[in-house]
Amino acid sequence: MRDLPTALAWVAEGTALCRRAVAGLDEAAYGEPSLLPGWSRKHVVAHLAGNAEAIGNLLRWARTGEPTPMYSSPEQRTADIEAGAKLPGARVTTWFERSARALDGALASMTDEQWRAEVVTAQGRTVPASETAWMRSREVMVHAVDLDTGISFADLPPEFLSALREDILTKRAGTVPRIDGDPAEVTAYLAGRPYKGVTAEDGSPAEWLPPWREL
Ligand code: ZN
Repeated sequence: MRDLPTALAWVAEGTALCRRAVAGLDEAAYGEPSLLPGWSRKHVVAHLAGNAEAIGNLLRWARTGEPTPMYSSPEQRTADIEAGAKLPGARVTTWFERSARALDGALASMTDEQWRAEVVTAQGRTVPASETAWMRSREVMVHAVDLDTGISFADLPPEFLSALREDILTKRAGTVPRIDGDPAEVTAYLAGRPYKGVTAEDGSPAEWLPPWREL
C-alpha cells in the first residue's frame, strides 16, 4: 500500500500543502498558536525545516555508510526549533524552502541499493532508508493540518490516511480502544489531534488518547 514511489509522491504533496499554508501568513498570524500545545505556527515550520535536515542526515548515512543521526541530541533538536520560532516569518519560510529543496534533491539521487541500507531513526528504530520517505510524508501531511490555516485531515489523500492509521495502530498496538467514525476523523483521533464524532462501539464519545509521539 505504501510503496516507495507512493511515499515520495506524498512527500511532494505534503510539502506543497505546507507551502500553501504559510504563503498567506503575515508576521502576526505566523506567531499565532498552531494546533500543537505550546507551539506557534513558526515552531511547526522550524520543526519541519529541522526535520528535513534530519532526514537528509539519514540519507547521507545510507549513501556513505557513516552513521549520521537525525539530530545530535534531543536538546539540540528543541533548541533549533525554539531559535527558529524567534526568527522573522520570512526567514523561517526561507529555511523551510531551502531544507525542503535540499531533501528533494537527496531523495531523488538515491540508488536502489542505498534505499535498502539500514539507518537508525531518532526513536531508535533500525529501518531501511526507504522508510524515511514515509517518515517525511507523515511530517509534512500532518503538520500541514497542525498549522491551523484551514487544511484538515479530510483534505489529505485517503490512501495516505489509511496508511497512517495502519502505522499508528501497529505502533500503538493494544492501547487503542475500538472506535468508530469518519475515516479522516478517526485518523485525527489516532494521531492525537482534534477530531469530531469519533465514538466507542456503544456510541459514547471515544476515550481520550494521549498524543502520538512520533510526529
Ligand atoms: Zn513532527
